[in-house]
Amino acid sequence: MTFVNKTPLSRRDWLKTAAAAGSTSLLGAQSRPPNIVLIFADDLGYGDLGCYGSKIRTPNLDRMAAEGIRFTHFYSANPVCSPSRAALLTGRYPTRVGVPRVLFPTDKTGLPASETTIAAMLKAKGYKTMCVGKWHLGHLPEFLPTARGFDEYYGIPYSNDMNPRPLLHNQEVVEEPAKLETLTPRYTEQAVKFIERSKDSPFFLYMPHTYPHIPLAASERFRGKSPQGIYGDVLEELDWSVGQILETLKKHGLDNNTLVLFTSDNGPWYQGSPGFLRGRKGMTFEGGVRVPFIARFPGRIPKGKVCTGIASTMDLLPTIASLCNAPLPPNPLDGINIWPLLTGQKESLEREALLYFDNVYVQCARWRNWKLHIARYNTVTYSPSPAIGRMNLPLPSPELYNLETDPDESYDVAAENPKIVAEIQQRIERLITTFPEPIQQAYRETKSKRVAPTAAGAVTRPAPQ
Ligand code: MG
Repeated sequence: MTFVNKTPLSRRDWLKTAAAAGSTSLLGAQSRPPNIVLIFADDLGYGDLGCYGSKIRTPNLDRMAAEGIRFTHFYSANPVCSPSRAALLTGRYPTRVGVPRVLFPTDKTGLPASETTIAAMLKAKGYKTMCVGKWHLGHLPEFLPTARGFDEYYGIPYSNDMNPRPLLHNQEVVEEPAKLETLTPRYTEQAVKFIERSKDSPFFLYMPHTYPHIPLAASERFRGKSPQGIYGDVLEELDWSVGQILETLKKHGLDNNTLVLFTSDNGPWYQGSPGFLRGRKGMTFEGGVRVPFIARFPGRIPKGKVCTGIASTMDLLPTIASLCNAPLPPNPLDGINIWPLLTGQKESLEREALLYFDNVYVQCARWRNWKLHIARYNTVTYSPSPAIGRMNLPLPSPELYNLETDPDESYDVAAENPKIVAEIQQRIERLITTFPEPIQQAYRETKSKRVAPTAAGAVTRPAPQ
């Protein structure tokens, strides 16, 4: 704001003028569809933020939660990177959209062109769109963000532990291998510049950070500063980045017309904390899929609220569509509009059971406060012996957990609740018939298998993905 005035303004006059200018810009801003900023951490656990009980210093995210709403039962649609992103951007199960597993640099596939992303949906409404960070939905030109609804892209096309490791601007390699130490500040600079040049138009910024996925690296400013070691350094820098984005929105008067969302793609891997939850990345126990979720929209989302209702990354597309008055994509959605939860109008929404998949195999279903486990995919995570290999095996009998009283899935109460077990099994049976044939086939094959006595074996850490 620039004042041209020969006479210095008194403090009271200045405040009046500033308030009038502010209200004008607010009215102007509110006549436009809201901007959307979606920040997506990689492998950040349920217990990794200060506002979720961590000792790691995350003042900006804690403030964002205090100024908005945070959820305690928010789910990534999958416990690993690529499928989680496919679901986030399409509002559909990754097994439905053809990305059931992690993609590698050797893969020639990606998110199919038949799927509509949030970016494509908003671009059609006239939004400026940018993706800054890790894409991981296909690295060939036809799968890159620039072909999937984003005007611009800056980042690494997959995980930082994969090789080669190019840093792309749109489709051009600008650095190889990408320097990991300065990635977060460079991502942040790109995001801030995008907001500044897009401030007169509705915009969608999708910012999938590279961290805290390993290998960990922080810039000189943050390295060695956290009492929690390098993992703390990396999260403190990520938190700083969120602060920069929020500061930029305020600086340009966009604060009151921007929905800012923060969440993670899956639970923590070798470092990081799932909080009080059982399991980690790669597992369909809660620690693999339940993630922090914070939403902030001054004037639209109440301050300091905590929502205990069930919600999923798949809900973001329909929610954003409703908020921005964008037509829904033609493919049927699995997510629902959670705006009534975000605004505090409702504490929970009645919804269909949420399925948890590992690769093509359905493992569990959450319905109300219950979670039924029916199978475990026999990756290294569960394999009692490498000789057995990768198989999906049904549990000897389904396990039922009451997540309200037993959030760490310790006490199987299936025997005491046969009606609940039957209800959820019927819901799985019904839902699975709506999936593509390979997913239905995987389900049928699992059911037909006899259970090896060693199937419910010890849990070890998953193989690198
Ligand atoms: Mg991840």
